[in-house]
Amino acid sequence: MKNFRFKNPVEIRFGKGTIADLGELLGDETKIFLLYGGGSIKKNGVYEQVKHGLTGKNIVEFGGIEANPQYETCMKAVKEVQASSATFVLSVGGGSVLDAAKFIAAAAVLENKDPWGIVTGDVSISTALPLGAVMTLPATGSEMNSNSVISRKEWGEKRGWSSDHVLPRFSILDPETTFSLPERQAANGVVDSFVHVMEQYLTYPVNSPIQDRFAEAILLTLIEEGPKVLTDPGNYDVRANIFWASTMALNRLIGVGVVQDWATHGIGHELTALYGIDHARTLAVTLPGVMQFKRQQKREKLIQYAERVWNITQGDGDVKIDEAIAKTVLFFGKMGVPTTLGDYQLGGEAAQAAAENIRKKGWKLGEHRDIGPEEVEQILLLRA
Ligand code: NAP
Ligand code: FE
Repeated sequence: MKNFRFKNPVEIRFGKGTIADLGELLGDETKIFLLYGGGSIKKNGVYEQVKHGLTGKNIVEFGGIEANPQYETCMKAVKEVQASSATFVLSVGGGSVLDAAKFIAAAAVLENKDPWGIVTGDVSISTALPLGAVMTLPATGSEMNSNSVISRKEWGEKRGWSSDHVLPRFSILDPETTFSLPERQAANGVVDSFVHVMEQYLTYPVNSPIQDRFAEAILLTLIEEGPKVLTDPGNYDVRANIFWASTMALNRLIGVGVVQDWATHGIGHELTALYGIDHARTLAVTLPGVMQFKRQQKREKLIQYAERVWNITQGDGDVKIDEAIAKTVLFFGKMGVPTTLGDYQLGGEAAQAAAENIRKKGWKLGEHRDIGPEEVEQILLLRA
């Protein structure tokens, strides 16, 4: 196991009716910048619950954060935060709203520097406004991590960044808020969470049985519970198990002391930036390609994944790996999430365009930092 530091100070309130805890969690904070997305919270009763929880507080509202939050929209919010002198940013929505909230909280107190630099890593931040979240979509784990992904459509850019200054102070996870999710978003969330685990698990062994078994427990839970969200969408326990699995998938716990990959996300972000495909759907296309392309380097972990997660016991290592990749593709299919570029009427040109974007950034992805533009193209061609 590698050396690590672990600290996760995010307070979680999980369960039915927990939005009512807002007043207690906010304590002395009086001027709240209430950030939300395209309006789902106004249709499913979450907005009313939040307003009730904020009784007695001074609220400045900002709606319209889009899926894959855009830099321009975030900058409009930054100006409003500054003009209103709000002291706390409250995100109500999915990962997009919370990722935007993280950027806004940091940019609102940034002095004399280009805020885009926060996203590219050229500007390192030393502070941010405090923030909290009412999470309505299990997927990103953003509720319990320091990551944020911001897009700039006109530049064809989508980039992730991270800072402990934007860890939420608290996150409220009420599984009942997820009953209103469209089937497609519920399915996307299961797939995104699954791939988050794979990015931290499917690398090379560093003798970390605890992290491995935590990761396998989350994968198995998503495989068991995921399809039920489609067949039994009104089942509270299914919603609750998926929510906690997705938080655990990316709250640092399984990622400490191990090697991490993240090539699938790096490539997937390019497909979203280029073609507007949902985040999780780009991952479902890319991951099987990465597994196939990297099957020698990932061999040991792929066999462990085949045996422990899919219970594949027959055949030699290559047979097990082939079957594990096939089972992964089948699982995404069972979630109703397509797995090839062809499903989006795309082919070799998409592989080339994504590779070109990686070339422009000079990126090398993967746990060995050996996936450059040529490799990205080859990986995506496996998914054409
Ligand atoms: P999202 O983009 O936040 O939301 C997707 C859609 O679901 C939106 O149209 C939203 O509508 C709707 N929605 C959300 N909650 C709902 C509910 N309870 N009922 C009905 N509709 C609801 O989805 P996400 O998957 O959570 O976030 C995706 C973003 O997170 C991507 O940009 C991705 O790159 C990023 N990401 C971040 C991390 C991280 O660690 N921070 C990790 C992975 C991915 P409204 O807009 O109307 O609310
Ligand atoms: Fe993700």
